[in-house]
Amino acid sequence: MAATAVPKAAFALIGGSGSLAAPLPGDLDPGARVVDEALVFDTPWGESPPFTLFELDGRRALHVRLHGWRKGVSRGRASRQVFSVLHRAGVRRILADAGVGSLNPLLDPGDLVIADDFVDRTTDRDRHGAVVGDHLLIMRDSVCATGREALRAAVQSLAPGRRLFARGTYVVTEGPRFESPAEVRQLQGLGDIIGQSFVPEVWLARDIGACYAGIYVVVNYAEGVVREWRHEELARIFHDDAALIGHILLKALAALPGDNRCRCRELRKPTLLV
Ligand SMILES: [Zn+2]
Repeated sequence: MAATAVPKAAFALIGGSGSLAAPLPGDLDPGARVVDEALVFDTPWGESPPFTLFELDGRRALHVRLHGWRKGVSRGRASRQVFSVLHRAGVRRILADAGVGSLNPLLDPGDLVIADDFVDRTTDRDRHGAVVGDHLLIMRDSVCATGREALRAAVQSLAPGRRLFARGTYVVTEGPRFESPAEVRQLQGLGDIIGQSFVPEVWLARDIGACYAGIYVVVNYAEGVVREWRHEELARIFHDDAALIGHILLKALAALPGDNRCRCRELRKPTLLV
């Protein structure tokens, strides 16, 4: 049965396709301890997906998976369920991951990108509104600089041989299908990587007054970019890199400052449209 009382936690991990094959926090970090799991909460948008509450180096965090579509639950609705819970938990800093395609021909499968901007080309996610909805949400510096730096440092420490791009623009499509070559040609002018996460999470984070940053692993070339991609390679990256991505998230989470060292909360202004 779903609960309504959400435990307090200042940090959250939103697991995407990049860490899907790895249990989080699992045994990825010896400092992590699961406090409670399979926590489902009632929200105005329906029952949430299950959360895990864990402690890492003395800080409390929630983990939830937001990859794929539960039957009968739209992506837009699932995102509100998750952010309703994070808001009630008092979460201030969120880290996320996902597997993405490359629009930029300089990128190869296996590369890691820490996006710093986005273009929203989704078509069916925003009819459910905001979670809080009482602020003007400025999308300048939409991705937390402090979170990005924590992720960059974690990658350099855990995977120093991997190609890492510390900035890039994420083009978000509705899915669930991939894009056609003609669509990719059109979207190449808009950004570097393409995928189906990031929105609305990035602006719902600002809506609830939390910071948001993510690590993205390139799993394929977008159609028509460089060469035809291979499904075996995509599956191998998802499988082989899941533990690394999970480990990066945990290491970055442990290094995040608890204070307001970034400017994210300055970019959420009282709305004039009351
Ligand atoms: Zn921030």
